Amino acid sequence: MNATPLDSEAPRDLVGVGIGPFNLSLAALADPLTGLNAVFYDQRPAFHWHPGLLIEGARVQVPFLADLVTLADPANPWSFLNHLRARERLFPFYFAERFHIQRAEYDAYCRWVAEGLPSLRFHHQVDAVRWNPERGLFEVDYTQLDAAGEAEALGRTHTRNVVLGVGTAPHVPDPLRPLVEDPLVPVVHAADYLAHRDTLRAAGHVTVIGTGQSGAEIFLDLLRGAPAGGGGGGLDKKSRRAKGQCFC
Ligand SMILES: Cc1cc2nc3c(=O)[nH]c(=O)nc-3n(C[C@H](O)[C@H](O)[C@H](O)COP(=O)(O)OP(=O)(O)OC[C@H]3O[C@@H](n4cnc5c(N)ncnc54)[C@H](O)[C@@H]3O)c2cc1C
Repeated sequence: MNATPLDSEAPRDLVGVGIGPFNLSLAALADPLTGLNAVFYDQRPAFHWHPGLLIEGARVQVPFLADLVTLADPANPWSFLNHLRARERLFPFYFAERFHIQRAEYDAYCRWVAEGLPSLRFHHQVDAVRWNPERGLFEVDYTQLDAAGEAEALGRTHTRNVVLGVGTAPHVPDPLRPLVEDPLVPVVHAADYLAHRDTLRAAGHVTVIGTGQSGAEIFLDLLRGAPAGGGGGGLDKKSRRAKGQCFC
């Protein structure tokens, strides 16, 4: 591993930790501000918004104007409408009058923004943030990861401000963790639903635990994928006969 303990650059105005929708929005809003020296780090190789839940037809709950920038800065170039324009889809989108866009479309829009912003650094895992009182700056230590996710180099950035946008991790109750971690047992968290959909559809009985948005979408998707007539299997919320389980 290359050790790069100190960067030689001038202190940044802003370091963002995590590039989910929260900090992606901040990066897009900061992009036109040429006087602001900002950089954003994420440990993942690229932007993806809950890839295990991009179920065909599932929509986000707010209209498209609540994109990454428009309500704060309507003239910002990283708007959803500009994304449609770049894809030559502006007129079809408008005349379809479906203003609650699909979750997969929101993910594609965010990836378009992420691919265009020069301030983003993927493959960078932030390991520590410290206040340096002598310099009056934060020190942000990171590990640069290679394509396999292994540590490749260490680095440090100094900055006047830090914005944490590290989001939430999918939660599995401790007693159930061994089941979710066993690849031979068809018990999955909603975050990994699409990768296991075929297994769950073939299970005969599936119990969906949790009745929020993700649970409802998965319940509906499993119903839509069930064979006509039911075939003797089923979906329920508490069955002890369940052969597959999905936590949402
Ligand atoms: C399974 C699941 C489904 C969800 N579905 C919905 C939904 O349908 N609608 C909705 O509105 N919300 C949903 N949420 C809530 C979710 O928190 C928001 O949608 C949104 O993703 C939050 O954005 P964020 O930028 O705060 O965090 P995230 O999108 O979680 O992004 C955080 C980023 O920080 C990075 N990161 C974390 N630690 C470090 C580190 N040390 N160094 C570098 N990078 C780091 C992560 O890799 C990640 O990319 C869901 C959450 C989960 C877990």
